[in-house]
Amino acid sequence: MATVVKPAPQPIPRIAPREDLNPYRIAQIQFDMAAEYLKLDQSLRQILRTPKRILEVSVPTKMDNGQVKVFTGFRVQHNVARGPAKGGIRYHPNVTLDEVKALAAWMTWKTATVNIPYGGAKGGVICDPKRMSKGELERMTRRFASEILPVIGPEQDIPAPDMYTDAQTMAWIMDTYSMTKGYSTLGVVTGKPIALGGSEGRVEATARGCLVVCEEACKVKKINLRGATVAIQGFGNAGSYAARLFTDKKARVVAISDSRGGVFNSRGIDPLKAMRYKERAGTVVGMPGTSRISNDDLLTMKCDILIPAALENAITLNNADQIKAKIVAEAANGPTTPHADEVLARKGTMVLPDILANAGGVSVSYFEWVQDLQGFFWPEDEVKAKLESVMRRAFQEVYETMRKHRTHMRVGAYVLAVGRVAEATLVRGLFP
Ligand code: NAD
Repeated sequence: MATVVKPAPQPIPRIAPREDLNPYRIAQIQFDMAAEYLKLDQSLRQILRTPKRILEVSVPTKMDNGQVKVFTGFRVQHNVARGPAKGGIRYHPNVTLDEVKALAAWMTWKTATVNIPYGGAKGGVICDPKRMSKGELERMTRRFASEILPVIGPEQDIPAPDMYTDAQTMAWIMDTYSMTKGYSTLGVVTGKPIALGGSEGRVEATARGCLVVCEEACKVKKINLRGATVAIQGFGNAGSYAARLFTDKKARVVAISDSRGGVFNSRGIDPLKAMRYKERAGTVVGMPGTSRISNDDLLTMKCDILIPAALENAITLNNADQIKAKIVAEAANGPTTPHADEVLARKGTMVLPDILANAGGVSVSYFEWVQDLQGFFWPEDEVKAKLESVMRRAFQEVYETMRKHRTHMRVGAYVLAVGRVAEATLVRGLFP
């Protein structure tokens, strides 16, 4: 008879294990926390935490030098219990399937947080858009659109811009879809140019939504937004419009940054000048009248409001205890890890979670889709007013849920959102 060798007792590790920065595992931890609060049964948890559909495609593209390069792209539909799938498309060299799965899940919870009738999806192509010509980007986009065409459509799944994609990218996708179907389909993507069924107010919608929830948070934290100091990491669509809108409210944007570094001026940075400078120079670094600051120092600098508006995992165990902002408003998706969340909660920092703070973009995307389907377009003031009301209501509902469960804002938002999707799933019942 074989003898059983007992393993030697393992010493208890003295240092905390390294933080898990995989965005999909982070998304699942966040979901599991809400599922615990809601006491969801195990089978419902399994349904809600698993992506509904994952499509991986190869995207052969003729490059300007005549050679063909094969890119890899993804479209993930996480959940459609409350309506068609909805979510952006990202172009970045570091795109992974796990990242797209996480972003798709966050979209499900985001559309539920602001209570718009969508599910969640996301797409991405592994590529380096900064090193590609406009022609190469167009050919890659059209081929990618054609590869994911069977799973997208106005009633099925509606893409939108995300990092390094924009209104032009959406126009190419709309055209590819329409030419294949044989008729113009405005509602297949949102974030389109106004000339092509885009909505007034979409381009700055993510930033405007972020501003509205920050106004509400300032009331809670008794901070006067007028004169409040703001630091913004990332100066693309979300970050640059946030700089403009916060400045319009007389807040002082003291630091901004992009992938090449950041700039600082304690008296405030003029966002319009910064946008023009970045257009010319390709970066905000070197902007006259500013001094240089690193992305790391920007995150931990003294300010009232910190807006991460770039990539995931900006605030981790490495820097969470050094964050000095009173409010962190997540314009980016997934900028704070669960461990960092705990540190910030202990310090009393109010974190406005991504699924609330950047939901202005998908809210106006929803308005755009509604306008496209009706063929009837609204003036900018109407879009702004409707967005404000969606965001203020969402803030209040998240805040009340947070207080009811004596937790922090992220868990409050997840409990609200997961509860809504769970309810929709249960009343629909399981097919077949
Ligand atoms: P964008 O491509 O317009 O801009 C991205 C910006 O981030 C650029 O200024 C880039 O230089 C900067 N950046 C990239 N890597 C960086 C790094 N390592 N450090 C600092 N800055 C870096 O993208 P966007 O649409 O503004 O998206 C930014 C974030 O906001 C993403 O997390 C995205 O998912 C999220 N978001 C965007 C929207 C939208 O409507 N565009 C909506 C919701 C959420």
